[in-house]
Amino acid sequence: MKQLNDKFGRPIRDLRISVMDKCNFRCPYCMPAEIFGEDYMFLNNKEMLSDDELVRLTELFVQVGVTKLRLTGGEPLLRPNIIDLVRRLAAIPHIEDLAMTTNASHLPKHAAALREAGLHRLTISLDSLDEQVFQSMNGYKSTVAEVLKGIKSAENAGFSPLKINCVVKKNVNDHTIAALARHFRDTPHIVRFIEYMDVGNLNGWVMDDVVSADQMQDILSAEIPLEPIAPNYAGEVARRFRYRDGSGEIGFITSVTKPFCGNCTRARLSAAGEYYTCLFGLRGTDLRAPLRDGASDEEILDIISGVWSRRSDRYSELRTSFTKIPRKGAEMYRLGG
Ligand code: SAM
Ligand code: SF4
Ligand code: SF4
Repeated sequence: MKQLNDKFGRPIRDLRISVMDKCNFRCPYCMPAEIFGEDYMFLNNKEMLSDDELVRLTELFVQVGVTKLRLTGGEPLLRPNIIDLVRRLAAIPHIEDLAMTTNASHLPKHAAALREAGLHRLTISLDSLDEQVFQSMNGYKSTVAEVLKGIKSAENAGFSPLKINCVVKKNVNDHTIAALARHFRDTPHIVRFIEYMDVGNLNGWVMDDVVSADQMQDILSAEIPLEPIAPNYAGEVARRFRYRDGSGEIGFITSVTKPFCGNCTRARLSAAGEYYTCLFGLRGTDLRAPLRDGASDEEILDIISGVWSRRSDRYSELRTSFTKIPRKGAEMYRLGG
């Protein structure tokens, strides 16, 4: 297998695939309901990569060094035949880790089949256990009980430990993060508190809405003393902590205040086949057109390698110096979180 490095010597290791641009939630920080209304034009079936196209592209990414896959969206469990797709991706040689990020609404229906099809790990998003706060953060599309039911079905299917993602927004849910930590403290699951990010252009992000990981740590330590633990591997995005009494682990994703671009080995593929080398990428490279125009594997590999070898992205590091850099980037639901 070839070793493919970018301009800063970072290898390509992870591929995040947005398998579905649509979502049944309307989290204001991701897909605000005022913009993503009833008549919003999501991709149609022909515009999305087919399962065959996705599997072929993934096999090519594996040839240049990808060993970890994450399926995301939009809501990945809304993709028709997602179980068959998982089965095919899990069978690709050299894939060491196959994970999915989901809002959990369809887990009661799919968790057991996902496990059986070969999915290794699940990350579930849950921003608060407070009903009113949670509903305001998902656009009034789901309830805490529904997500907890999804978590239960994931546990029953054998997915453990789970990662629980919580995006923290100032004066919205920061007063509820200690309760969330407490809820999962005596379980094997790891809550990861995520700094609210300026992905895309639609969520009205301002720095004042960000609660820094240091502030979150202060809020949590006041109640439950924490101590840092070493990363599992170089390039791990979450800063890890454990409770001093040994009752569990949490993490912080500090993409705004302590960026981790130096270790970023992640490529992204949108549901329409655009290849991005940064979550904050301005433009993707279209892989769907060459696929559909009959390009050979070598020709597509040349595109993948060329783009990665020219990569110099480090948006989060630059953003920290300038607060927010004016730009027109793609939205999270297209790139996958
Ligand atoms: N729909 C699935 C879900 O919500 O789990 C998967 C896609 S979602 C885009 C992936 C992750 O990105 C979620 O955990 C979500 O909370 C996070 N996310 C979305 N917008 C964000 C933002 N502006 N800042 C930080 N995290 C964000
Ligand atoms: Fe949907 Fe996930 Fe975005 Fe919320 S964060 S709107 S659940 S894609
Ligand atoms: Fe990677 Fe871009 Fe995020 Fe930096 S800003 S960690 S390069 S995705």
